[in-house]
Amino acid sequence: MTLQVLYRGPLESCNYGCAYCPFAKRIEDPAARARDEAALERFVDHVAADSRQRWAIFFTPWGEALVRTAYQRAIGRLTRMAHVERVALQTNLSVSARWLRRAEPAKVGLWCTFHPTETDRGSFVRRVLAHRAAGATVSVGVVGMPAHLAAARALREALPEDVYLWINAAKRTHGAYDEALRSAFRAIDPHFETNTFRHRSRGEACATGWDTISVDGRGDVRRCHFVPEVLGNLYDGTFAPARRPCPNETCGCHIGYVHLDRLGLRALYGSGLLERSLPTSRRLPVVGAPRARIASTCQS
Ligand code: SF4
Ligand code: SF4
Repeated sequence: MTLQVLYRGPLESCNYGCAYCPFAKRIEDPAARARDEAALERFVDHVAADSRQRWAIFFTPWGEALVRTAYQRAIGRLTRMAHVERVALQTNLSVSARWLRRAEPAKVGLWCTFHPTETDRGSFVRRVLAHRAAGATVSVGVVGMPAHLAAARALREALPEDVYLWINAAKRTHGAYDEALRSAFRAIDPHFETNTFRHRSRGEACATGWDTISVDGRGDVRRCHFVPEVLGNLYDGTFAPARRPCPNETCGCHIGYVHLDRLGLRALYGSGLLERSLPTSRRLPVVGAPRARIASTCQS
């Protein structure tokens, strides 16, 4: 079994300042930065040492990690380990593709969010294309604020057809979508609907805690980012994978509900599961799921 780890260390800074950002936008002092880098290095060392396990790593920071050379080095190191299958990262893709020279690009998956108030479309698209040309797999996305509709349409036009452009519903800051806006975003992302509501999940089978876990900077393991119970620690061997039903009423974030069995999204995304990439042939809409309209805190 490949263990998929959603790693989120102490990092909580970003080089952008999006108004809708749900994360802490702070400037770290050198001590905080050193703590984050030490936690990252410990995690990478642990993965390096445990070659009996196959790994896939997904960095989901509370900020932007790719601007940090420590993360570029970490991805480089991880991708060169034979027992690591994939390393994915959520990023604003504000860096050039040169850092990929440190890595095995075929193992790199990038979840790239376009923030129209922070960068221009032309530069962003050039960076997307450069990362693809260097061998990484990419998905591109936009937060579905009404004000972003024109930017999302233009971005769809500017990207090659085989780059999936997802739209994340701004459930926390925008609330419910009227049919016109819903349909406009659906025309860009046929899977937009799936992200517009929180999925009923209590008692349902979800693969988190089994083959997918969340790990923080101390190595504490939770099943996912949305259930606070600590299941053990990765470094002291106290975590044991087990199949457990979801204890939460609902699950509203893509990086969580994608592991909910009944939605069948793992089969849909296949090898692009972590970075949310989707071949053109699989971009058929998912319909008929029940809705629970509860405010969400996730829109990155
Ligand atoms: S939404 Fe992402 S890119 Fe924008 S400020 Fe927050 S962490 Fe940075
Ligand atoms: S359904 Fe969502 S909240 Fe529930 S365990 Fe899975 S990822 Fe976590």
